[in-house]
Amino acid sequence: MTTNHSTRFLAVVVSALAATGSPLHSQPSPAAPHFSLVRPRFDAAHSVETVAYLDRFVRWPGNAGFDSSIMHVAGKLAAAGFVEKAAAKPTDRMTYRIEHYPMITTARDPAAPAGPRAAWEPLDASLSIVGAGGKSTPVLSFATNRNMLATNSFSTPDGGVSAELVRVSAVTAAALDSAHVRGKIVLADGRLGQLFTLAVQRGAVGVLAYSMPKYTQPERYTNSIQFTSVTYDSAARAWAMPISFAAREKLNAALAAGPVTLRAMTKSRFTQPAVELAIVAEIRGSVKPDERWVWSAHVQEPGANDNASGVGTLQEMARVAADLVKTGKEDPKRTLTFLWGQEITETARFISEDSERAKGIRWGMSLDMVGEDTQKTGGTFLIEKMPDPSAIWTRGEDHHTEWGGSVLKEDRMTPHYFNDYVLRRCLDQAKGTDWVVKTNPFEGGSDHTPFLNAKKPGLLLWHFTDVFYHTDGDRKEMVSASEMKNSGIAALVSGLTMASADGATARSIVSEIEKAALARLETERKLSADTLSRGGATAYESHILETWGAWYRDALKTTDDIEVGGSSAATKSAIAASVRRVEEATQKAIATLKSSTNK
Ligand SMILES: [Zn+2]
Repeated sequence: MTTNHSTRFLAVVVSALAATGSPLHSQPSPAAPHFSLVRPRFDAAHSVETVAYLDRFVRWPGNAGFDSSIMHVAGKLAAAGFVEKAAAKPTDRMTYRIEHYPMITTARDPAAPAGPRAAWEPLDASLSIVGAGGKSTPVLSFATNRNMLATNSFSTPDGGVSAELVRVSAVTAAALDSAHVRGKIVLADGRLGQLFTLAVQRGAVGVLAYSMPKYTQPERYTNSIQFTSVTYDSAARAWAMPISFAAREKLNAALAAGPVTLRAMTKSRFTQPAVELAIVAEIRGSVKPDERWVWSAHVQEPGANDNASGVGTLQEMARVAADLVKTGKEDPKRTLTFLWGQEITETARFISEDSERAKGIRWGMSLDMVGEDTQKTGGTFLIEKMPDPSAIWTRGEDHHTEWGGSVLKEDRMTPHYFNDYVLRRCLDQAKGTDWVVKTNPFEGGSDHTPFLNAKKPGLLLWHFTDVFYHTDGDRKEMVSASEMKNSGIAALVSGLTMASADGATARSIVSEIEKAALARLETERKLSADTLSRGGATAYESHILETWGAWYRDALKTTDDIEVGGSSAATKSAIAASVRRVEEATQKAIATLKSSTNK
């Protein structure tokens, strides 16, 4: 395919659009007024301070570290002017409440009898090789590896236990049977949870497993351990340790030299009954209070980037929003909701527990891993898109992350303007800076999924690949104030713009989406032409273009809900015109593609 062919095609589209008066030319961002208010006020030092506070704890629902983190954020909200809901007067527009949910076992918890679920907290642990004359060689210690104890591990007697180490070649019942593990400590490469269940059933006192994903570069970051959990088993009262590459090497070397005795000490705290806390803070809309933009940041997990950075960034967004509303600089017409709590559980509950409220939830955005100092962690800032055809045909600039995504079916597509709208806001924030903004096709696994499950627009702001993902290397030193600032400003302005969107704003966003549609069609046409030149099927490639065209045509139609109070006639006609133009451009792209094969 010759290059001039495509420019000629684009020239045709541009002139056609110019003829119809489409406002394609670069125009000021519809969010510019909000940026100019938010930027000078956003102080990432507040987020950094909260990251440092949360970084002290291994946070799981119901445990002291989780609760202390929730209280920390609540204190910041009160200081910013949010009033505790129970004490609020009707005139108090900015309120927060701490929600309490007794922790109970769920169906997913077969080993735990139905009833209260215990909260868990690691307190201490160590592992060493017992040498001749009782001299011991340390292998792992909680002080340097706070992920070394799997969630739901029980404590050993105070001084620890000594037992023979036995390695199994596979995590199977047969391998465990032939290893005679009763009273021993079992080592394997593989999934810790599975090994724990099989070994404890056979009387093992504890288990050690190595299974660090490649993207954590374990042979370089040899001390990293990814946190994990095992089934709660109050009968066996055993323990389990995920181990680092370095520990695995040390144990294998010792076993190669002869029989090995280990000394393991574990100390943990179970709290029962336990209560899961969450915070809901809101700035009530002045015109459409039942229509909501929702941000969420999960509190659980031990990581600084995952997700103390999201907690701290959202907290500073709330402070800035409160300051702007208090000073009358902003008057959101729709309600702004800020959630902190247990990942997925809190957002799913906020959507499902009040069906009336759910009707008015219009957008959901998850801030999860927004602070990575990419010089140290690798990776880039990413917007994980709602399902679009790049999750079916992942090609060109579109790439799944090493976290992993599956190929979606066409019936999973959720055409919506939210992807490109948020991308534009992030690119607005990146303009003139070295902030790198990329997107990835839908993968799942964070607080955006409950919104999508409820057929609402939902997306995720995060970073990947983070080489310290879920490891005990994910500490406050890996968090960047400027990454939190950039993602926080872009996220807050995205919400403020939608919360007060008038006709002009809505029409400006419509043209942004139209522009994105045309650019995407041109990109896909080129990729398909290239595939055809290498023997691809015209019908199949045409179908890809048709699917993208249809996705954007339907995404444009969803812009009808942007204007506060409903679309005006001018907005409706702008939408209709854009839909028509994208439809035309789709057919032109397909025709151009087909004609290119005839040459
Ligand atoms: Zn996370």
